[in-house]
Formats: sequence, C-alpha cells, structure tokens
Amino acid sequence: MRNIKRIIIPVLIVLSIFAVNVSCSNDEEIVLNPTEASDETPDSDGDLGTTGDAEGSEGEITLYKVTGDEISKIQDYKVTGKDLEYQKDVAKHQEIWSLVKKIVPVEQLKKMSEFLIYNGEVTGSAGFVIEIKRDLSDWKMGIAINYAYEGGFNAGGELAYTIIHEFGHVLTLNNTQLDAAVTQENCKNYFPGEGCAFEKSYINELHSKFWNDIWSEYQEATKDESAQQKFYDKYKERYVTQYASTNPGEDIAEVFATFTTLKEKPEGKTIAEKKILLMYNRDELVNFRNHIRKNLALRKKGDAVTFELPQPGAWKQANSFGNPHKTKCRRH
Ligand SMILES: [Zn+2]
Repeated sequence: MRNIKRIIIPVLIVLSIFAVNVSCSNDEEIVLNPTEASDETPDSDGDLGTTGDAEGSEGEITLYKVTGDEISKIQDYKVTGKDLEYQKDVAKHQEIWSLVKKIVPVEQLKKMSEFLIYNGEVTGSAGFVIEIKRDLSDWKMGIAINYAYEGGFNAGGELAYTIIHEFGHVLTLNNTQLDAAVTQENCKNYFPGEGCAFEKSYINELHSKFWNDIWSEYQEATKDESAQQKFYDKYKERYVTQYASTNPGEDIAEVFATFTTLKEKPEGKTIAEKKILLMYNRDELVNFRNHIRKNLALRKKGDAVTFELPQPGAWKQANSFGNPHKTKCRRH
C-alpha cells in the first residue's frame, strides 16, 4: 500500500503541475505573428515550467515557500554564471520579498504559497503569477531579479509597480472571484479562462459594464496586432494604459495598479476613470490601497514623496500589447 502511494502521489503531483501549465502554454502560438513578436520581446508571453525540475528551463533560480509573511527555501535550481551569482545573493531575494510584504497585506499573502526568484531575460518578463491549485485558491508569484535591480533596486518604482500589477491578477482571479469548476459553456458571466467569474466579482463587474458592449469588436481585434492597435486607438479613453486593452484580465490588473498609485481620486469623466471608481466602491480594495500607500510612504502631502513610482502608464510595457488570449501567466 505504501509503495503504491509512493508512486501515485508523485505521479499525481506531476500530472497536476502539467495540467496547470497546459492552461497557460497551449495557446502559445496564438501570440503576435513572429516578426511583430520579435521586436516586442518584453511582453512575449509564455509560462515558467514546472517547479519539480532541478534545472529550470525559463530562468528559474530559487523557489521559496511562503508562510505567513516569511519565505523559506524550497529549492535552488541548477544554474551557472550570472544566475549562480544571483542565487547566492540571498540578501537580494530578501530585499525583493520585503517589498512584496510592504505591498501585499499579510491576510492577502495567504493566497500565495510560493515565491520564485528567476532571471527574466529568458522570457523577457519582469514578473508573473500562476495558480498552483486548479481551484485557484493557491498561487505562485515570480519576480525577475535581473530587472528588479536594473539601474538599482526598484529604480523608478518599476519593481513596486510590477508587484502591484501581478498581485492584481491574484486578487481578481482567485477562488473568491472565479469558480474553476464551471466550464465556459455553463458560465453565465465573464469567463477569463481559469474559471467562471462570480456575478459580483471584480472582473465580471468590469466586463459587464465596460467591455460587454464592445466585446465582439474586441474579439475580432485579437486576430493580429494591427487590429489590436486600431481597436485601442478607437477606444483609448476606456483604458488606463495601452497594455490594459490586451484583455479584461490585464485591464483589471492595470486598473488596480493605477487605482493604488494615482494620488487623486478621479472624477469619472472617462471610462478609464470610471473603471478606477469601481474600485473605490469596494471597501476592501480601498483598504488595500491605503496599506500600499502607507507602507510605500505615498500618502505624504505635496512633493515630499519618499518612494518613487512610475506615473500610471509610464512603466516599461505600458505602451505595448500583451497576448489577448492569456489572462495571466503575466510577462508583466
Ligand atoms: Zn499582467
């Protein structure tokens, strides 16, 4: 009996990891056409491999387990050269993690049990999130250490913005927001890919109010990047950044990042501003915003901001498109 368990459990683990990854990689070839994709390397989408490999294929360096607000090492991947230097520099891992803690309140951190330090050069990505459990109750966040220290730690606030955006995906795609057991055919609400959005979920509200009326036009526009560009040019006032027009999943992560980093509450003159106001209607999101602003010292009046953040829309990939067919596995 024991022997059977020994065999079955690892097999199940491998299968479940495989199943989760498939959901992110099977639409890989629907990315932009190769010539366009090649000059847009930073947002080439994809997925980091399984966590079981000692040799990661997508820049993996060190995997941590998250317990409370602390991280402890699960494994070091087999790396050489610059990546080995990054691996040995655990003070940097901790420095990145301390910024994650400042941004994500401990009760929200419960949603993620793994944290990966990786080199983003392989995938051209600054960060990503992916579900660990199919029911969307548990997530992994990856942060690219090379970009985290580009120009100095968190230069220009890019790293902080990346963390906010990435956690925005966890916040809007977890099991309190989506039902992973409901298939697309049986879903009456918005279906982002990972599951069926609950009626009152953040993403369903965003979709029903500000995407539904242009949905068929949007779907038509996802076929190539020039159509995507035309769609964005036409509906610019609906989006906080160009990247937000990628799909509702990216939109809500960008809206969340703009909501938390923009000092003033917008008036709601444009649809982009109305999207931000939806978040002001949710007390728990306002609390999240306050937490971030307090910990990053963004609350100070006047110019006495002690922590730099990019202006909304000014982060590196803001003026690009992501893969419209992916709602997470973010390359940003
Ligand atoms: Zn994203």
